[in-house]
Amino acid sequence: MNQNQELFLQLIKTEKTCVMFAPSYIVSFKYPDIIQQLRAMGADLVTEITYGAHLTNVNYEKYIAEHPEQKYYISSPCPTIVAIIKSQYPELEKYMVPVYSPIMCQAKVMRKKYKEHKLIFVAPCTAKRELEAKRFPGMLDTVITYKELKEIIAEEKIENYKEQKGSFDLCIKNNTKIYPTSGGLTMSSNITKMIPKEEIKISDGFVEIKKTLEEIKNETTKYRFFDLLNCEGGCINGPEVADDKMIDERNNEIIKYKEQNIETEEEEYDLEGESFYSEE
Ligand code: SF4
Repeated sequence: MNQNQELFLQLIKTEKTCVMFAPSYIVSFKYPDIIQQLRAMGADLVTEITYGAHLTNVNYEKYIAEHPEQKYYISSPCPTIVAIIKSQYPELEKYMVPVYSPIMCQAKVMRKKYKEHKLIFVAPCTAKRELEAKRFPGMLDTVITYKELKEIIAEEKIENYKEQKGSFDLCIKNNTKIYPTSGGLTMSSNITKMIPKEEIKISDGFVEIKKTLEEIKNETTKYRFFDLLNCEGGCINGPEVADDKMIDERNNEIIKYKEQNIETEEEEYDLEGESFYSEE
């Protein structure tokens, strides 16, 4: 067990916790078993960050409407992309859309409503812990990856979990379940109604990303909105996704999961006066 796994176990067994899954979780875990297993371990609330993704989308649309003259808009939910731009393309920082990622939007809402709960994020990559959680200290109590959680579940030998509630708590959005696929942000938002399709570039994978960033830097691109994810195929192919399927199969799993239409009632959240812009 590494330190992150030990902290996860300590929190889930001794504190009130809210466990938040990135929507690519379905590629690594079985629904609803994983929810039941977490409840059997002691989780109080279990949710998915599709609501946070909805907030990210709404705020992207708001930002674009407020900044119609901006030359380029570069998406920022992938912390690796943010780090690449900050270290290798600082001149492009001004084009990054300064809106919180889905996990940070959702954490902000949960922190306000569930003040006693410790927030745990289950993520497809360590970049969410090593880059993003560190960039916004105090937002999350810990981040655990899919591979780490799988190891914990195997080690804990959880029995009789089937008697636990299998549905998610809190609001879950169906349309943002495609968020972890390449172009998920664009396809689940109204951005295509604000920017012509011919001006939207969806790129994934390190090689493609570098090419795209070079074109923006040299102003040789014909695009204006850039939906970028560092992993080929998107977060469904993140380095901590515990699964050996091909990208196409993973995409199909996301589509099938979306078709199940697991959506919950929207909770009453007090968003009055809240900003989801991530200006540092
Ligand atoms: S694209 Fe890859 S590195 Fe970026 S957030 Fe998704 S899993 Fe993490």
